[in-house]
Amino acid sequence: MFELKCKDVGFDCPAVVRGPTKEEVLKQAAEHAAKVHNTQVTPELAGKVSALIRQAE
Ligand SMILES: [Zn+2]
Repeated sequence: MFELKCKDVGFDCPAVVRGPTKEEVLKQAAEHAAKVHNTQVTPELAGKVSALIRQAE
């Protein structure tokens, strides 16, 4: 599993997005950002977010 902590991206938010692949985490993170933070994930931001995705158990 891979996971991304929303706060690592810079939001004051306790959400953690998990998925079986980095692509899936990125997709879910983009949906979360749009829905919760009203933020559009640009290719630039996606690159930054991608680097913050960590492998989890
Ligand atoms: Zn969030």
